[in-house]
Amino acid sequence: MLFGFLVIPLLPFLFAEKDISPPLAEPWIASTTVPGDIIIGGLFPVHEKGEKTACGHKIYHRGIQRMEAMMFAIDRINADSSILPNITIGAHIIDTCSRDTYALNQSLQFVRASALNNIDTSSFECQDHSIPRPRNNYSGPVFGVVGGSYSSVSLQVANLLGLFRIPQISPASTAKALSDKSRFKYFARTVPPDTFQSSALVDIVKSVNWSYVSTVYSEGSYGEYGIEVFHREAQERNVCIATAEKVPSTADEREFDNIINKLKKKVNARGVVLFTRAEDARRLLMAAKRGNASSHFYWVASDGWGKQQKLVESLEEVAEGAITVELQSTNIPEFDAYMTSLTPEENKRNPWFEQYWEDFFQCTLQNNLPLETNVTFNVCNEDLRLRPEYGYEQESKVQFVVDAVYAFALALDRLYKDKCYEFDQPGVCPAMTQYDGGDFYQTYILNLNFTDLVGSPVKFDKSGDGLARYDILNYQRLPNSSGYHYKVVGKWFNFLELNQEFLIFDHNLTTTPVSACSLPCEVGMIKKQQGDTCCWICDKCEEYEYVFDEFTCSDCGPGYWPYPDKTSCYQLELQYMRWDSVYAIVPTAFSCLGIVGTFAVIGLFIKHNDTPLVRASGRELSYMLLFGILLCYLNTFALLAKPSTVVCITQRFGVGVGFSIIYGALLTKTNRISRIFDSASKSAKRPSYISPKSQVCITCSLIAVQVILTLVWMIIEPPGTRYYYPTRRTVILKCKIQDMSFLFSQLYNMLLITICTVYAVKTRKIPENFNESKFIGFTMYTTCVIWLAFIPIYFGTGNAYQTQITTLCVATSMNATVALVCLYSPKVYIIVFHPDKNVRKLTMNSAAYKKYNAQPSTSYATSSISTRGTPGENIPMERVGAATPSRSSCAGVQTDPQESAEPSDAISLL
Ligand code: GLU
Repeated sequence: MLFGFLVIPLLPFLFAEKDISPPLAEPWIASTTVPGDIIIGGLFPVHEKGEKTACGHKIYHRGIQRMEAMMFAIDRINADSSILPNITIGAHIIDTCSRDTYALNQSLQFVRASALNNIDTSSFECQDHSIPRPRNNYSGPVFGVVGGSYSSVSLQVANLLGLFRIPQISPASTAKALSDKSRFKYFARTVPPDTFQSSALVDIVKSVNWSYVSTVYSEGSYGEYGIEVFHREAQERNVCIATAEKVPSTADEREFDNIINKLKKKVNARGVVLFTRAEDARRLLMAAKRGNASSHFYWVASDGWGKQQKLVESLEEVAEGAITVELQSTNIPEFDAYMTSLTPEENKRNPWFEQYWEDFFQCTLQNNLPLETNVTFNVCNEDLRLRPEYGYEQESKVQFVVDAVYAFALALDRLYKDKCYEFDQPGVCPAMTQYDGGDFYQTYILNLNFTDLVGSPVKFDKSGDGLARYDILNYQRLPNSSGYHYKVVGKWFNFLELNQEFLIFDHNLTTTPVSACSLPCEVGMIKKQQGDTCCWICDKCEEYEYVFDEFTCSDCGPGYWPYPDKTSCYQLELQYMRWDSVYAIVPTAFSCLGIVGTFAVIGLFIKHNDTPLVRASGRELSYMLLFGILLCYLNTFALLAKPSTVVCITQRFGVGVGFSIIYGALLTKTNRISRIFDSASKSAKRPSYISPKSQVCITCSLIAVQVILTLVWMIIEPPGTRYYYPTRRTVILKCKIQDMSFLFSQLYNMLLITICTVYAVKTRKIPENFNESKFIGFTMYTTCVIWLAFIPIYFGTGNAYQTQITTLCVATSMNATVALVCLYSPKVYIIVFHPDKNVRKLTMNSAAYKKYNAQPSTSYATSSISTRGTPGENIPMERVGAATPSRSSCAGVQTDPQESAEPSDAISLL
């Protein structure tokens, strides 16, 4: 009753024929019926939409095939005694003209039939007093509707059918919105929602490594919802949208040209994703052809394009390389046979078949020829059949149409078995015809689960959606021919499986085209974004930085360096002096020679310990000096060794103490000589602290000062190692000594050298051979030169640690060598080559002596020269008298051993 209230206000509208008037002037066939006990409605896009009128003249081949698929399925079901026995299914098929508003208008026919069925007509009376009955073309109420194809059509119609609780199953509408059960309560589909298709499209874009694409979508639920999901998912997966262009439903050629121009402006976005209706896709391709952009774009398209041959007809070159998504379906061979059997003469239940035939074969049927005309027509041959050789190909969604019809039939079969089983008459029972459509949808349709004609499972989820399976096709040129075809290159079922090697974007191109705003940055570069997240310029990281993430360079830190791939850092190899380097070999060799020489001298001295020459040179200090020299040579090893705390302590003590032994001893010597001569010139009194013991004590004290200074230094600057980074790429292991503090540590030694040099200068006039002052002097001058040369070299080579260490080693060894050679070579010469001169001579009579004696106040000269040897008093060789052959060369110094053996005795008298 309530239903009657709802419908009665609608009646004038429902029965107003003029509201569903044909779109064109000529008689227009909007629908067709096939009689049956139970009627199923059908909504198919038999015609394309018109530009100025609701319906276009062009027949839509896909729509015709789908409509025939419904007929085919109905025929099979009616012939199948196991489904709805004794009940025939009829159909009421409407042409939607691919337009939602027109389809809605036409769908009122379903509602009218349904409403009539539900109206209590007993209250109405005809003029002749008879009971009202439906008109002749009235097909009875529809139990359900198969269709529409375009989502926009399904959406509009579902709103209306929902009001009348008429279940609807679409074989093609994929818009996500149709899954919303609060709005479309009785809508189901044998295809999946576009959420999956959008994911598949993003997967394709990702798999060909495109990061910057443009999109074009049709106005309406299909394109708008589909692209929305695509945009969202693309963004989540770092694919940027260069531009998104909407094709208005009223778009004309100019609009398409505009879209192409806008796409062209995004030069780097060569991939274009289409979520459009078929005719929009075709018109876009035509615009691309007009705009000379045939080979500029690479298309990725939704099932709106799918695998339609008609869509790309005469646009093959523009469409070449397109990757399209189509719902996975299987050809039904029986349907092909059915189509082949159809002829316009026999297929009278399809009022649009003749037009389809003529359009398909591009001919005119005999009965459609104008009676009088002088134009020649291509008359259709009677033998023509819809066969593959004539270009016939089963439409991809035929399977889903057949499934949708079977779904209704099987659900009705259940209902029949539930409600009419006990009905004594065969056929439809009232309980069945009056069954509520809403309950029928919930109880019977949604619970279906069957296997279709080609063995695919058919079932609906709780939203009434079908299973999501897609084929991925690539439109490519046939090898060695100018023909083109769609090649299956992959599939999508929850994830993409794409055979990249089968993909051909262009028969002239062997590589995958690039669609990116900016090219990926090279190794060691980061992205500096420019507006869009996909557009950037590449910036090079510093050579000591690694790429932390694609936008950030990070410093590896001191002692670390990035790997060549710049993804992380490794620890730099520590540098320190290696024994096998030439910087180490040279000073080591030098030092070894020096050590050998020193030992030779020590050995010689020990061997000739009691000879006058050795005794005269002051054995204690001589040995100390030799030890100092040895220490200086040994320092080379401490300096070259790999730095460690022990090595660093050894270096500090070694260098400082080694020098202080040498220069301490020499200072003691020169000071002593100076004092002796100073005091000798003043009085006959022997100066104090000239005994060997005193000299050793003085020397030890001088050395102790250095030791103490070094200890203080150790406290102020504790020993250890440190890393030194002269450049970012070098890490040098060094002792924890500042260059300056090393210099300070040598200040004391420099002081010793300076004083020693002053004394050496002071005593230089003392007759040669008188002790070693001349040689000491020479040693000191050379030492000064070496030190003066060493300091700038040492500080100037701060970064070249090897040169610095080598310089220090060589300087130390040179100082030691100068001391060794200048002080000891004369003695060694005599010991080795003139042992005859290394004997004690008792007489002392020489011109030199006399000369020296003649000087005033030289009290010791007047003293008698004792023959008493005083070996312990080691005032070294003193020659009083004879001239030496050479005064300037330390190597050439000659002593007169006969006399030189004596002076100590002479001095001992002081
Ligand atoms: N999936 C499209 C839509 O929902 C229709 C495609 C077709 O008709 O094959 O509009």
